[in-house]
Amino acid sequence: MTISKSICCESISTHRPAISIPQDRKYDLICSGCNSAYFEDRLKCDSDNGLLRTDYRNKKLELKNVLGIGKFHDWLPLDEIMTTDSGPVTYRSSELAQYLGLSNLFIGFNGYWPERGAYIKTCSFKELEAFPTLSRFKNSGKSLVLASAGNTARAFAHVSAMTGVDVYIVVPGSGISRMWLPEEPTDSIHFIQMGNNCDYTDSIHLAERLSAAPGMQAEGGARNVARRDGMGTVMLDAAVFMKRIPDHYFQAIGSGTGGIAAWEASLRLIEDGRFGSSLPELHLSQNLPFVPMFNAWKDKRRDIVKDIDMPEPKRLIHEMYADILSNREPPYSVPGGVYDALCASDGTMYAISNSDAKNAVNLFEELEGIDIFPPAGVAVASLIEAVDSGKVKKDDHIVLNITGGGVKRVEQDYGICKIKPTAHAQNANVPLDEII
Ligand SMILES: *Cc1c(COP(=O)(O)O)cnc(C)c1O
Repeated sequence: MTISKSICCESISTHRPAISIPQDRKYDLICSGCNSAYFEDRLKCDSDNGLLRTDYRNKKLELKNVLGIGKFHDWLPLDEIMTTDSGPVTYRSSELAQYLGLSNLFIGFNGYWPERGAYIKTCSFKELEAFPTLSRFKNSGKSLVLASAGNTARAFAHVSAMTGVDVYIVVPGSGISRMWLPEEPTDSIHFIQMGNNCDYTDSIHLAERLSAAPGMQAEGGARNVARRDGMGTVMLDAAVFMKRIPDHYFQAIGSGTGGIAAWEASLRLIEDGRFGSSLPELHLSQNLPFVPMFNAWKDKRRDIVKDIDMPEPKRLIHEMYADILSNREPPYSVPGGVYDALCASDGTMYAISNSDAKNAVNLFEELEGIDIFPPAGVAVASLIEAVDSGKVKKDDHIVLNITGGGVKRVEQDYGICKIKPTAHAQNANVPLDEII
């Protein structure tokens, strides 16, 4: 969507001077499309489709002396400092680095690996989104509604079990095996299981309808700044660890929210001034045969063309090894979305085959000594491709986001409890009273 200049200027002038700026607020929300500023929490801009982005008063990151993600409190949209042991962990790779001939490869490990200080017991970086989102939401008196291909469901269910905040989670048939917790599920978790012919996008549609019911609130997906800034802590942690912004950031994407978050975190680090002045190149990867963002970026298109590139998306999704990377309507084209992040950072997209992703999962476990999820294997495979093609140089500072792993260790240390569905939905149009 294009925004004309006059609308831009108008919305700035109507929003800015009309409201007196509350000085005690930690942040404002600024529209990436038209620069409108908002002083209250919301998911959308009134004038356009752009993602709202947090603009924190504190431009210098001062780490708080707590465990986990609360360390980055300055750049999280929360008033109270969060205390949780789950947070991103960065370490310098030696084995994989040596194998690839890289001298500055850093791994952002988001999962469970106690020896490395990694305590994300639901084993993916979705927990970094769930904690800030639910802490921000907990006093609203409402139930939070979200859709998930599995990992987000687990993360939000876990935080719901810990905090008692009511969540409604809509999961497609393919996500059922991922519905487990490292603890007993609680009554605050309402899990709606969709039919086997439904995919992640169907669950997004049903969640949208459900969130319009009384007492419910949409979690917001990529539009939720608590989610993006929570994921952005992977970049923050890496930059603090390396004392600089990396040259390259590698991540597998389905929606691309993590890629957007890494870009936004880097912009804040540049503004801070102590971490360098250039954005990292984003290297974002998808899993063949379903690669809508790869196809669009290859042609330098802002729009994802449906039907031409993607005949029968559900069949293609069915064939993916890392099937959670399968959002059919990702925030790619919107102002402030994946396309803009790739443009700003001179980014690259990769399309990774199932066999390359599987080999990368095994290689990583062999070399680094921890099991990882299929999407993380996609990211590892993209790094291998980048090294082979000369996209990254031997001494470049590289951050590889291992977005999930360590399930084998959680099973050993905690055991795993299945979450049982509280309702079933055959498709996205079922009457709501059947599932609430
Ligand atoms: C959600 C998820 C991704 C993709 O993240 P987005 O940036 O939201 O597309 C990658 N890996 C794992 C393990 C995930 O759970």
